[in-house]
Amino acid sequence: MQTLDELVRDLLDRWDGDEKHPGDGGPGLITRLDDLTLRTRQPRVAGGGAAPGSRPPASLDAVHWSTAIKAQARILDMELRASSHMQQWDRALRAIPPGAEAAGRVAEVASTVGGWHSVCRTVLGLQEPAREMRHVLCLVCEQRSIKTRPASEGERSRAWCTNPDCVDEDTGRPARYEGDRLSLLTENRAS
Ligand SMILES: [Zn+2]
Repeated sequence: MQTLDELVRDLLDRWDGDEKHPGDGGPGLITRLDDLTLRTRQPRVAGGGAAPGSRPPASLDAVHWSTAIKAQARILDMELRASSHMQQWDRALRAIPPGAEAAGRVAEVASTVGGWHSVCRTVLGLQEPAREMRHVLCLVCEQRSIKTRPASEGERSRAWCTNPDCVDEDTGRPARYEGDRLSLLTENRAS
């Protein structure tokens, strides 16, 4: 998983990704959502990015998500600083990693920011949308709340629980599935 600093850098400055999930070194993901020419001129991605035939996003989606992520970043930043003063979205986003560190909430905040990162990539057509697995139950919370992303170049298929109340004993967060655990999950069919 990418560090919080890397996630924020990808969103704001330049999409570099990490070794396992390389970016293309181009403009930050939020910049791309905001810039029509960057959205319509989809960069080619090395190593497991956009599926062939994935469409450029509808501009409405991009604007909607850009607005939503910026608003959430500003609120999260206020929370972390325990302040009632709202900062500009880019300052807020940049303040999130040190804020999370100071608040002792790095893992949880990295998961939230990782979610924004993933939404950006999906909306930009840089990764395939996740699919619902409606026929299986989460092994932890027993809900039909599993989403999956099929294997792509350099990456194994994986699935995760989208129920915010799901708590995996090992991580304290909603369950994630890869490898053997993913096989067990696919056997846990809802009757
Ligand atoms: Zn669950």
